[in-house]
Amino acid sequence: MEKFEKLPYERIDLEEMKTSYADLIRRLKEAKSGEEQWAVHQEYYKLTKHISTESTIAHIRHDIDTTDAFYDKENEYYDAFFPEWENCLNAYKKELFYSPYRAYLEEKMGPVAFKNMELSLKSFDEKLIPLMQEENELVSRYTKLIATAKIEYEGETYNLSLMTKFTTAKDREVRKKAVKAMSDYFLSVTGEIDEIYDKLVKNRTAQARMLGFENYIPLGYMRMQRNSYGQEQVENFRKQVKEAFVPFVSEIHEKRRKRIGVDSLKFYDNGVYFTEGNPAPTGTPEEILKAGQEMYRDLSPETAEFIDFMMENGLFDVLGRKTKTQGGYMTELPDYKAPFIFANFNGTSGDVDVITHECGHAFQYFVNREDPIPEHNDITMETAEIHSMSMEYFTYGWMDKFFGNRKEDYYTMHLEDSVIFVPYGCMVDEFQHIVYANPDMTPAERKQVWKKLEATYRPHIDFDGDPFFGEGGFWQRQGHIFASPFYYIDYVLATICAMQFKAWMDEDFKEAFTHYLQLCKLSARDFYEPMLEQAGLKSPFKDGCIESLVDKFKAKV
Ligand SMILES: [Zn+2]
Repeated sequence: MEKFEKLPYERIDLEEMKTSYADLIRRLKEAKSGEEQWAVHQEYYKLTKHISTESTIAHIRHDIDTTDAFYDKENEYYDAFFPEWENCLNAYKKELFYSPYRAYLEEKMGPVAFKNMELSLKSFDEKLIPLMQEENELVSRYTKLIATAKIEYEGETYNLSLMTKFTTAKDREVRKKAVKAMSDYFLSVTGEIDEIYDKLVKNRTAQARMLGFENYIPLGYMRMQRNSYGQEQVENFRKQVKEAFVPFVSEIHEKRRKRIGVDSLKFYDNGVYFTEGNPAPTGTPEEILKAGQEMYRDLSPETAEFIDFMMENGLFDVLGRKTKTQGGYMTELPDYKAPFIFANFNGTSGDVDVITHECGHAFQYFVNREDPIPEHNDITMETAEIHSMSMEYFTYGWMDKFFGNRKEDYYTMHLEDSVIFVPYGCMVDEFQHIVYANPDMTPAERKQVWKKLEATYRPHIDFDGDPFFGEGGFWQRQGHIFASPFYYIDYVLATICAMQFKAWMDEDFKEAFTHYLQLCKLSARDFYEPMLEQAGLKSPFKDGCIESLVDKFKAKV
């Protein structure tokens, strides 16, 4: 392939797209055998991959420079295009799902593919399109607001990502002032964020009710493609986390309080782990990338091939710039069988997380890139995040390349972070369950809900009377709550599995990595819990899994 920046781009015409799918549907109907339908399905793959590739190129180029008028317009175009596309995909899937040759097709594609089809058919209807378009616009509005946030700090203006440098500074006064600047900023926009979220909740509830659901929760689960577990299991999981992880995290906080030598730990200390400041990568962004390449060449033949492909084809855009969209992600360009990694390096250990975490996602895609059945790539997020989070642990042995003599400090920080994350992630999940079960709550009531959850999940945090963060506003920074409802618990489930790999590799690295590779290659060929079993992991839903993990980790942190 050409380097990413040289790849051609062409807008997908809406009417042409509709005609192409209509044509495929007609041919599916006319097909006289499973073989004939399978041949049509190959063309469906080709068309769908192409649309996905072009729209992703536009999306990435927009994220790389949000002030680029051309790609800004393209991005807006796809906001309205996607629901129409989804409509076509659904019409096509409906035909396939009810095919008289289903047994033949299911043999080729596997049972997960058909279960997922069922979920997308149940969660979509053409009459939802106007609401879905409005939903996309609202999410874009939130994303834009956060991306263009201007934080005034010490006479300069920064975006949120660049503020991390100050909120994690070793000087406590700097942290305090920086967090205050963030709080002031959020207070100035919280009304607008409340308005956006209120509209999103009402919009999603209206969509759910049009499909005959009582509220958005079951629909949200279907849209997350939860094909093998439900609300009760998730609730039971959160309950175990409250019991086992909350006290564990309180212990970690106390340890940290002593380590950084303060009388009481305040919320502006949350981002810092050591008196001399957090371990940060020592090299330039270019050196970090190069160290990452050396690391993956060392780790295994599979990761070596992967990283060379990424570098040769310019599939990283990771340098922080003011006009880039916030955050980081891995995405896919199926026409080129290529992953792409987007991020904003900011000089913190987060830069290394991109090399470990996002590369974990990309690596998993890469090892399956020759699979002729794209449905096998339809991974649900609680599984996808195992690929990425486990890679953070599998790469521990190379952290001296990034952190020099502070690699041990990096381990401490990373392990503590993973543990602390577990209750937080559950809180984000429970918040959303409450919000969508009670869609008529006012914005003020939602903040009260969050404040109450803080007391349960993070009783050790002292907000020092902050008028935004201390009053139930924190969730407004959490983009997933806006863009991907009910996504967050997937990170928590995955953390639990990645921690199991960590415990395993400390005993037998080679065996753990072999099983990790096996899990990556299983992709979405099977359902969640059977796949974990095949890879030698315990399901987080099983009673006792959480508790035994806490016991193992208490010895590590
Ligand atoms: Zn991830």
